[in-house]
Amino acid sequence: MRKPSPSSPAARRTMISNRRVDTDPEIALRAALHARGLRFRKDYPVQIHGGRATRIDVAFPRARVAVFVDGCFWHACALHGQAPKSNADFWAAKLEANRKRDRLVSSSLGRDGWAVVRAWEHEPLDDVVDRVAVAVAERSARISSAAFP
Ligand SMILES: [Zn+2]
Repeated sequence: MRKPSPSSPAARRTMISNRRVDTDPEIALRAALHARGLRFRKDYPVQIHGGRATRIDVAFPRARVAVFVDGCFWHACALHGQAPKSNADFWAAKLEANRKRDRLVSSSLGRDGWAVVRAWEHEPLDDVVDRVAVAVAERSARISSAAFP
C-alpha cells in the first residue's frame, strides 16, 4: 500500500507532527512528572512477546510501569480520531493496524509484568500525572514489601 501524499494542509501538519518521540504531549507529561518528583526513562526499548522490539514512551523500569501517550489521530481516539475522507481506505487500514498494535503491545507488556498506563493526548495533564503517580506508588509499595516481608 502506497502512502498517499497529504491531501490538505491539516493532514500535512498532522503527518509532519507525528514524530515518534518527543511529541508535544509527551514533552509536557515528562515535565509534569519530573516536577512531581518522579524519575523515569524516556523512549525505553523493550522486547515484547515474540521477541518484537518496541519502545515505551515513559518507563519506570524498577516499578515496571509503562506509560504511553497516544495521539488522538494516530491511535484513533473515539472523540477526535476521525479518519480523513480522502484516501479513506488507506487511513482506515492504517489506523486499524495502529489500534491492533497498541492492544498487542499493552497485552504483551502486561504478560511480562508491566503495569500499562495509556493516556490520550486530549486528557488533562494533571489527571494523567495522577494516574501515573498512583501506578508507580502501588508498584513500588509491592516491590518493597516483597523485598522486606
Ligand atoms: Zn482525543
